[in-house]
Amino acid sequence: MQQAAETAAVILAAGRGTRAGGDVPKQWQPLSGRPVLARALAAVRDHPGIGRILLVLHPDEMARAAPLLGGRVAAVAGGATRAASVRAALEALAAEPPARVLIHDGARPLLPPAVIDRVIAALAHAPAAAPALAVTDALWRGIDGRVAGTLAREGLYRAQTPQGFRFAPILAAHRAHAGAADDDVAVARAAGLDVAIVAGDETNLKITHPEDFARAAQLLAGAEGRAMDIRCGNGVDVHRFAPGEAVWLCGVRIPFPRGLEGHSDADVGMHALTDAIYGALAEGDIGRHFPPSDPQWKGAASSVFLAHAAGRARARGFAITSADVTLLCERPKIAPHAEAMRAELARILGIAADRVSVKATTSERLGFTGREEGIAALATATLVAG
Ligand code: MG
Repeated sequence: MQQAAETAAVILAAGRGTRAGGDVPKQWQPLSGRPVLARALAAVRDHPGIGRILLVLHPDEMARAAPLLGGRVAAVAGGATRAASVRAALEALAAEPPARVLIHDGARPLLPPAVIDRVIAALAHAPAAAPALAVTDALWRGIDGRVAGTLAREGLYRAQTPQGFRFAPILAAHRAHAGAADDDVAVARAAGLDVAIVAGDETNLKITHPEDFARAAQLLAGAEGRAMDIRCGNGVDVHRFAPGEAVWLCGVRIPFPRGLEGHSDADVGMHALTDAIYGALAEGDIGRHFPPSDPQWKGAASSVFLAHAAGRARARGFAITSADVTLLCERPKIAPHAEAMRAELARILGIAADRVSVKATTSERLGFTGREEGIAALATATLVAG
């Protein structure tokens, strides 16, 4: 009967760790749109060698897991320690014991099927097998931020999961084990079980810190064969000089013997940047969103346009990672105002000022800007899907 050869899986998700940031435990936080735990579960469930799957959950989070359960997947409440949680799952499986059990960490969402293959294959020859990566970096001992010694790395491994076991001996080992344990390999070894090391995989990372989400999302995008969605847009604008006493450029008012003519405040730099963002989104230009024929935009502050474009980017799931504006004029001198312009654009965009550039050039007195008939601006914006 097939049941006799079954490999069951236990996925540990009872921890409440929030070192990864946020107020929700890391295994429930979304990774590229799906909870970390849902991805870990899918990796195990989609492997043809796995039968029953038990999720070990914190008692307060049983309801949250409901969408993940059903069919071969069931849940059991975890205990106060990792060892107690595993014990609870093993006891639940013991009513109908499988031949083997793989115990996986629910915070490792990118488990490659080949790692599962290697663990199961090794269990034909050993009562226990676990994936690991040999340590390749030098290892230091540090005290108070200073290197206090170098450790030999030969024979050292970084342990991963799933850790695999023949069921009867690991159940007996857990029943005999008192107190806490780092992992199930520690419990197995305490019971005298031989543990084979198989090759782990760098993509099988454990989500621990906030930056691990970004790294996992990149690996996921690569694994799914799609490039990160990075978009670049450009914008160009020109406004003619007219009588006045100041010009608005990139949100900064600069006293000047003339003004710029336009329907709004004629902020040529901000218009170019706004169009660059619309361009990256392939959403037309300022004229489409704020028709000049509509009197409500007469004399409008251009920050309204730029804030709208930034809002459209956010609504579409993009972060603006770079904005670069070049103003083309003989006068006024831009350099004394460039820092204030960067700060103002960054404020409106809702991004850090070090992602915003404002610079200027003359046209060597050539052309309409050289004759000081008006000011031109060029802008580039880069957007990255988050
Ligand atoms: Mg304009």
